[in-house]
Parts: sequence; structure tokens; C-alpha cells
Amino acid sequence: MSEAPQTLHGTEQGVGTWRRSWPSDAETSSHAAAPDAARGAGFRGRMRGVSPDDRRDFLLRLGTALGIAAGGLWQRRLGAQSIAAARRIDVHHHFAPPAWIAEVNGRPLLQAANTRWTPEQSIDDLDRGATTAALVSITNPGLWFGDATATRRLARACNEYGASLVQRYPARFGLLAAMPLPDVDATLAESAYTCDTLKADGIGLYTTYGNTRLGHPSIRPVTPELHRRNAVVHVHPTAANCCRNLDYAPGVTAGTMEYGTDTTRAILGVTFSGDAAAFPGIRFIWSHAGGTAPFLAGRIDRGSRNAADRMPNGFIPEAKKFFYDLAGAANAGAVASLLQLVSSRQILFGTDFPPGGSNADNAKALAALPLLDDADRRAIEWDNAAGLFPRLGR
Ligand SMILES: [Zn+2]
Repeated sequence: MSEAPQTLHGTEQGVGTWRRSWPSDAETSSHAAAPDAARGAGFRGRMRGVSPDDRRDFLLRLGTALGIAAGGLWQRRLGAQSIAAARRIDVHHHFAPPAWIAEVNGRPLLQAANTRWTPEQSIDDLDRGATTAALVSITNPGLWFGDATATRRLARACNEYGASLVQRYPARFGLLAAMPLPDVDATLAESAYTCDTLKADGIGLYTTYGNTRLGHPSIRPVTPELHRRNAVVHVHPTAANCCRNLDYAPGVTAGTMEYGTDTTRAILGVTFSGDAAAFPGIRFIWSHAGGTAPFLAGRIDRGSRNAADRMPNGFIPEAKKFFYDLAGAANAGAVASLLQLVSSRQILFGTDFPPGGSNADNAKALAALPLLDDADRRAIEWDNAAGLFPRLGR
């Protein structure tokens, strides 16, 4: 969904000293230890005692990394990316099921690049970027257009298509299942179906449905259910009804500012409502480095004293529990601000493909950031996502 191209040049110098000024970040998070379990024990450790299927998946990944063709779709030439960086998972990658295209064609917020998506296009992009796998989700304009029955059907069609995609390419794709919010009952049913039957890897939500933001009491019954499931919940921004026609100067699109702003609104909705403190089992991933929330965190934290009954520790300790992807945000300003809030153990690689650019270009952008060292990049590109999505992180 990101219309804004990533620009990485010219401002990186000098920001390294900004890092980690908030007190102990990863160490205070209940989620921060999870990726450690996914760390490998070296090649022999990986291959010893694994099933033939596991071994095949590993060898396919290895083949991709080394540019060794094993046949069919795997016979693709690697791009210019470093082979050493091949263990990478893209957590912000969009797919476009035919039923979704039929519903959203001509609607506001739809980007043309998403209408041209094919599975082969995604796999080709992953291969050229030496990226192992992508978590796919539905992008803007989403699924909610005011008709609950239509949204319920559309979510089911998208999720069944996504599950079939994962079944066809299990080592390359994971599914973040779409939910028919703001219909709470339908969402409870769809979360059960996608998690229990389709074995989705996580849940995909939007920051806002109409004008109903995450954290609003009207959709709260969904939150304890996702907490009970210990769900990984990727939150994608959109433009709320209030703010999608504000008539800025020509050229200002929803992606220019509104998506980042709505992400901050949703983060405040989840924290100030008390949901984040009450339901810590949900592992939230916020898109685009958390919108403007990391930059505003100090100011928000001061305001959080007004919500002490729901957030007794204040905003920053809650925000430190979240994960944040770098789609459209692999630039010095965004990453420097994010590193004030969390460590690299809670930052994830993402591209926003197709409109957000290629895996190869996003990986290059990350590699060019001097405020990250090699250990940071390993955590961002692989370890953290492998912990959240163990099926893809083997
Ligand atoms: Zn996106």
C-alpha cells in the first residue's frame, strides 16, 4: 500500500548514537525471548533427525540461497543480492485473490500494482531478493464496504485462496488470514476456521473499520479470543472514513501520511483501551515501523497517565511489547526513532510488495543503514520472524 518510495540516502550519518535510550527494551518484553528458540544449531544440527519433508524444505531453501536449481519454479536465477543474506522472511507482502480483485476493482485506495499480482510474480521477487518466504495479507482497500454478508463471504474466499497458495508453496508463503470485522460474530467464526482448519500462520487486521478503530469496545470480544489463541496479529493501515477526503494539496495520497497516522491511532486505541495490558497473549506486528508512534512515544507516554487504570505502567512499556515491520520504513529517520522504543529483536523485515517495491531493493535499503549491525540485521531479516512463524522458520 505504500505509495512513497523508500529513500535512504543522505541522512544516515550521525543517527547511530540515538539508539536505545529508552530503558531496557527487549529484556522487558515477554515476547523477546521467543526468537531465541528458533536460532539454528548449524547445518549438521539442522539435518540430524529431521523428517524427509523438513529436509526437503531445508534443501529447497538452501538451493534458493545458492542459486542451485532443483526444477520447476525453483529454476530461477538469483539477482545481485548477497547469498549470505538469503535467510530472510518478508512479513508484509500482499496477495490478491481473484474474488478480492472482482470486489475492489474501481474502489478508492486500490493500487494498480495489486491488481496485477500472481503467485509466480511473488515467487520470482522472493528469488531475486534471496528471500526465503513471505507472509501474505490483503491490502487496501480491505474487505469492509458496509455489507456484513458480502464481507464475510469475501474474507472466506480470500482465506481459502490463501490457504491453497500455502498448500501449493508451503516453504515460500505463510497466510495472515483476513477477518470480516467489524462483524464480531463473523470474525470469531472466521478466526476459528482459519486457525483450526486452514492452519493460518497469523491474523491480518486493519487499523480502522469505517471509523471503528482497534481497541474500541464494540469489537473487544475478538481481542480476548486472539489472546487465548496467542495469535500473531499483523495490523495493516488504512484511511478511516473521517480522514480519507481531507483535500490536502494535490499529490498527497492516503499513503503519504494517513496510513502512518492511522497506525498511531490504532496503537493508541489498543493501549489506552487497556486491551494491550489485559490481553498480552496477542503478538501485535504494526506496519511501517509503527507509523508515527515511535516518534511521538514520549509525548504519548506523558498522556497515558490519564489512562492509569487501564495502563498502569504507562504507554511506553506497552509499546515495547509489540513488533514493528519495516515495510516502507527502511530509512534512517524511521529506524532511528523505532530503535529508541524497541531493540532490533522486535523489528521485522517487510516490503509491501507489489506496490512497495522488490525484496531485493528493500534488502539493499536495510543493508545500507549504518545504525544496524550484522546481528541486528540477522534478527530483523530472520530470527524474529522465525520465532513468530515457526513453520517458515525451520
Ligand atoms: Zn501493505
